[in-house]
Amino acid sequence: MKFNAPRGTNDILPPEIEKWQYIEEITHKLFKNYNYQEIRTPIFEYTELFQRGIGEVTDIVEKEMYTFEDKSGRSITLRPEGTASVIRSFLENKIYGQAQPTKYYYIGPMFRYERPQSGRFRQFHQLGVEAIASNDPALDAEIISLGIRLLEKFGLEDFELHLNSVGCKSCRPKYMEKLKTFLTKNKAELCDKCKERIERNPLRVLDCKNQSCQAVIKDAPKITEHLCEECELHFSEVQSFLDVLNIEYIINPLLVRGLDYYTHTAFEIKDNALGAQNTVFGGGRYNGLAEEIGNRDIPGIGFALGIERLLLSLQAKEINIVEAEGIDLYITVIGEKAKKEAFRLLDILRKEEFKTEIDYLDRSVGSQMKSADRMNAEYTIIIGENELNNNSATIRNMKSGNEAEIKLSNLLKEMKQRVDKGEK
Ligand code: ATP
Ligand code: MG
Repeated sequence: MKFNAPRGTNDILPPEIEKWQYIEEITHKLFKNYNYQEIRTPIFEYTELFQRGIGEVTDIVEKEMYTFEDKSGRSITLRPEGTASVIRSFLENKIYGQAQPTKYYYIGPMFRYERPQSGRFRQFHQLGVEAIASNDPALDAEIISLGIRLLEKFGLEDFELHLNSVGCKSCRPKYMEKLKTFLTKNKAELCDKCKERIERNPLRVLDCKNQSCQAVIKDAPKITEHLCEECELHFSEVQSFLDVLNIEYIINPLLVRGLDYYTHTAFEIKDNALGAQNTVFGGGRYNGLAEEIGNRDIPGIGFALGIERLLLSLQAKEINIVEAEGIDLYITVIGEKAKKEAFRLLDILRKEEFKTEIDYLDRSVGSQMKSADRMNAEYTIIIGENELNNNSATIRNMKSGNEAEIKLSNLLKEMKQRVDKGEK
């Protein structure tokens, strides 16, 4: 019998995992600086949370969800995104009763039944933020800048911020009608998918990648020319707060989010080195979402970043975010008695946060030294019967080749003198 991981999933193995740990570490640190707190919601939710009522016509909800019945017959869905769960949790736990705004972030796996390809998987990972219960355009700019500052932490600077406003309940319907009329007039030119979208989700036609659709779309009416006064003002305020931070953006009226609950700001960060799947993170305002989930008029804004795409972006630019780290000391042992003593010393050193290792395969001294080399050990020491009897051993600096005679009982002290833990 041979087993494979399911299509579209990945094992994250060492040393690759160190990049993930580093990304998570930097994320926790930076997001806390911005006063966002981590939230962890379940990996699965009741399907209705994502499939609310009628009119939900995103690709995700229609075709990409991992949905199944549990043993009690309830319909369960592996979460395809984080925002709905965060808002569900905010409402369920009555967080709105506390001081506002609420600023959350999350890191974790998401699941979408998509065609696997570069930068597109069926289990992938997002880190995301949600700022809830404030409609301040400064918060839109904060969210966008937070994502950008995160990329900068990893040395990524070469990307484009695309910015748009998708309007609101009062101005978007009028725009949608105009768009529908325009698309209907040009229906013959559109791909089959977009022909269907005209009635159900005309905004989505705007970001269709199909070439003949693109040719039609470039002459389509622009949402930015149909915003109401309030949306205009919000949009220009977001821009002026971004200007304050010297963050450059490209106004892109074709950047849309398909659903009704999205309002005002929409944005995407694109890395053109990534090819077809070039969006590293995207997000926007969803002032109508809490209404849909829990009948409460509470605004929100957020983004989600694909960690796999961030890694691809780093790879494309040959940016290495983690250095291979060796161990501090490898203890080579000769004989059973020495192994027990080495095992005891290991414990003492590890309690003091020294990275240490011994042999677990009963190998010869030569093979043990090879392991030490492979582990990139900074120091090695050999302990045998003689060393035990004399309470003394030779410690060797593997880089310089320098050796010193030390008392075995002083090993911890000697290591402290040699390895600067402050640097770690
Ligand atoms: P795309 O247009 O690339 O499908 P999306 O609009 O579906 O993206 P969002 O739902 O906004 O993406 O998710 C935010 C981010 O999550 C994306 O910008 C991307 O970095 C990442 N992402 C989305 N779907 C996948 C996937 N199947 N595999 C890997 N990363 C993904
Ligand atoms: Mg998608």
